[in-house]
Amino acid sequence: MNPYPKRKIRIETTKKTYSARYVEILEKWKKLPVWVHKEEFLKTLKENQIVLLVGETGSGKTTQIPQFVLEAKWLVGCTQPRRVAAMSVSRRVAEEMDVEIGEEVGYTVRFEDCTSSKTVLKYLTDGMLLREAMADPLLGRYKVIVLDEAHERTLATYLLFGLLKQTLVRRPDLKLVVMSATLEADKFHKYFTGVPLIKVPGRLHPVEILYTREPQRDYLEAAISTVIQIHMCEPPGDVLVFLTGEEEIEDACRRITRNLGDHVNVLPLYSTLSPAMQQKIFEPTPDQVRKVVVSTNIAETSLTIDGIVYVVDPGFSKQKLYHPDTRVESLLVSPISQASADQSAGRAGRTRPGKCFRLYAEKSFNELEKQTYAEILRSNLANTVLNLKRLGVENLLRFDLMDSPAPETLARALDDLYHLQALDDECNLTKTGEMMSEFPLDPQMAKMLIVSPQFNCSNEILSISAMLSVPNCFIRPRGEAQKAADEAKSSFAHIYGDHLTLLNVFHAFLQNNQDPDWCYENFINYRKMKSAVSVREQLVRIMLRFQIKLCSPDFNSKDYYVNIRKALLSGYFMQVAHLERTGHYLTFRDKDDQVVHLHPSNCLDHKAEWVIYNEYVFTTRNFIRTVTYIRGEWLVDVAPHYYKLANFPNSEAKRVLQRHFKKRRLSEERSC
Ligand code: ADP
Ligand code: MG
Repeated sequence: MNPYPKRKIRIETTKKTYSARYVEILEKWKKLPVWVHKEEFLKTLKENQIVLLVGETGSGKTTQIPQFVLEAKWLVGCTQPRRVAAMSVSRRVAEEMDVEIGEEVGYTVRFEDCTSSKTVLKYLTDGMLLREAMADPLLGRYKVIVLDEAHERTLATYLLFGLLKQTLVRRPDLKLVVMSATLEADKFHKYFTGVPLIKVPGRLHPVEILYTREPQRDYLEAAISTVIQIHMCEPPGDVLVFLTGEEEIEDACRRITRNLGDHVNVLPLYSTLSPAMQQKIFEPTPDQVRKVVVSTNIAETSLTIDGIVYVVDPGFSKQKLYHPDTRVESLLVSPISQASADQSAGRAGRTRPGKCFRLYAEKSFNELEKQTYAEILRSNLANTVLNLKRLGVENLLRFDLMDSPAPETLARALDDLYHLQALDDECNLTKTGEMMSEFPLDPQMAKMLIVSPQFNCSNEILSISAMLSVPNCFIRPRGEAQKAADEAKSSFAHIYGDHLTLLNVFHAFLQNNQDPDWCYENFINYRKMKSAVSVREQLVRIMLRFQIKLCSPDFNSKDYYVNIRKALLSGYFMQVAHLERTGHYLTFRDKDDQVVHLHPSNCLDHKAEWVIYNEYVFTTRNFIRTVTYIRGEWLVDVAPHYYKLANFPNSEAKRVLQRHFKKRRLSEERSC
């Protein structure tokens, strides 16, 4: 067996065996700007342990640089902040090297590993490399690590910067390449003192920027009508439209197709799209047909689609936000930064001069933030702290980070982990905490799984966790089919709430032998259900590794659902809301409360007095989504250490609980 990738062998020996497709790609790829810098790059990397590389998006960094450093028996790892990018780019590179994906070239993303013992080049999410570092801090299998898309400043990439700085000292043979599009060169350079910087000039054509005169009331409407206008009035050239999420994108695609028919090929692009559909965006369309790609900001820097001449930029994207005061982390549609807007506009000038239609006034552009804030400043850090603790980082405040999180965010994270019993009084990782860090899940969910055998329902909690990890399995088309979809959903609905509804769907899917037709008839997303099954299998493996019992309560017992709901609460006891007499819900936490509304998608048959929720969403109002009815007195049973109530603000909920406590004390005294 020769571990060399085929490309090297073929290039070095005969060219007769090249497939036509291979030759076609070869021609194109040799023209990418990074090729001009190949020798300089390799020389610099030979002489230095770390190299920074900055290049315009589309210059070939992600696909070429890892190939430049390939050698037999070495493993090269290239991180991507987004799973779609890791999957799509690795497929492309496998094609360039004329090998099967998963063999010499592969990818690893959360819950999916497409690599083998032959793999010499692996694309993986930055989160996955962090997990690997937890298992092996020296990252012994790697010879070169490429941290790509550094400008995205994701949490995991930041943590990897800090960790790798330490690892490199202990592994003089390990090389690190940091790559970025619009690098804030000063900042990175300061962080990596004395590290050589290679710049790859792009070959961008000019892009004319057009603003609207007035701010737009509805950016989705504006985006759709702009596409129609481009198609009517502008010469040939493909269009890239940025929108914020799956539903919005699918909606826009339908409406553009309805308006323009066969003259356009409208393609969606977002993170949960199937790989086959992802690949479609790269296929050329026939002459006379205009390609319109409607994408999240993933097409801003991570993926380059050739042939784009027009960009439509509404100026919004979904961004993670965290408020340490209320401890709410949520995805919120927010204005993008100037840097993002400029990056997006650049996508129009790859092949020839282009146009970018900004759906906002020039004045609004000037008011945008210059740069997007680093993720570490916008996140709940409980998971991060757990991971760092696991990696043996003792003093988190002294860990070498490029931007330091707000002290209150860090304090909140420690607090949450303490309540989840992942940390002890001295802030050391407990046995439970150690186990929790092994699950690729939120600390709350990991905790829920670990304690679920106490409620005799780990099997059910595994299924619910798997379903929560693959969100939104219900298909809800707009228009006529909507009613049928809602009816189908209601046949799974459990009156106690959404978690149990998800469990019903999961069970029904298995009972129907995982049949795609059954999914279609019931408006259930087949692919997501298959993922849930696979996620569940992986979680089972982790459970077995820790010898956590797999068990189910007796289905005919009246306590079947009580047990499951108590187990849910044992992880999510900090995410509880109480129905006030005024008719609205208030979240119930130590230190503060918030008015929230049940998300319209909920399945409860009445407004229950107490609910737990899985997620907080802001749209027009504060919603809690995926809710289940629980009983107030369980709070004391399940999380007595948290519900001491002294720290809780005075509220109706607190008074209700105090009464529960009193009743319980009295009955305990009586029985003594
Ligand atoms: P960079 O990382 O510098 O932004 P890339 O290496 O991602 O650049 O892209 C280089 C070229 O490869 C681009 O022209 C892009 O369109 C092409 N490319 C990347 N992925 C695919 C794919 N899956 N199919 C076809 N072309 C692709
Ligand atoms: Mg790239």
